[in-house]
Amino acid sequence: MAPISAADIPTLSLLYKLKKLNASRLAPVQGATPTHNDRIGLIRGDITSLQVGAIVNAANNSLLGGGGVDGAIHRAAGPSLLAECRTLNGCQTGSSKITSAYSLPCKKVIHTVGPIYDDIRPDNSERALKGCYTSSLNLAVKNGLKTIAFSGISTGIYGYPSLDAAMVACETVKNFLDRDKTIDKVVFVTFEEKDVRAYNQVLPRFFPPNTKTSTEQEKAAEEQKAEAEAKVGQLPDVPTTDPADADYAQKKQKHENNK
Ligand code: ADP
Repeated sequence: MAPISAADIPTLSLLYKLKKLNASRLAPVQGATPTHNDRIGLIRGDITSLQVGAIVNAANNSLLGGGGVDGAIHRAAGPSLLAECRTLNGCQTGSSKITSAYSLPCKKVIHTVGPIYDDIRPDNSERALKGCYTSSLNLAVKNGLKTIAFSGISTGIYGYPSLDAAMVACETVKNFLDRDKTIDKVVFVTFEEKDVRAYNQVLPRFFPPNTKTSTEQEKAAEEQKAEAEAKVGQLPDVPTTDPADADYAQKKQKHENNK
């Protein structure tokens, strides 16, 4: 399969424009903003075909390969990936480690270990899943990578409900992008239908479409300018003489008269 470059992965802005993604009927979450819509990508397919800075593997604690996306990544990268993973001494749940990508078209592979979903203690699972996204994003920044593509961490064999997992993924990525200026694109890669549906539902609640058209944006800018000009009109006139000078002239005159 021909690799897909980062630039060819559709952004949320484009998906909204093409009506492939629609505004949510539910209220947006607090702090929701369209600001990042050019920095978020969404694609359904095999993560091993993406020519991005890093792809994020849903690994297990041993980092020695497994099923699902982990198996697909190791098959596509070749045996050198496993050889490097053997040197890493595993990885804790909620943390991430980075390796070379070998035969993959991406530059690096970030291996993160998602939680096995615990429905008795969902808060623990949520904390760990947040850790996966944050630690992966931090590793990308540290390694100077500009684009990063996430598989649906924990939503396969580890049983995290897709909708809840998408909420955690979107919230964590939004909080990160609010602060970060270095990452160009964060891509969510969906594979199964249930995750496609979950992301279509959740993404618009965190990253709503920009409802202002360009003419509306221009009109808003004009209004702002007019408002600023009106405020300028209310300011007192700029003095044309130096007040110190005027005072001095008066005193001088008085002095002359008293002579
Ligand atoms: P986990 O054990 O963390 O649940 P899985 O590998 O079982 O990891 O699944 C993680 C996610 O990766 C799931 O959403 C699954 O549908 C998806 N997935 C599986 N194979 C691929 C692939 N080749 N490319 C992208 N995503 C994949």
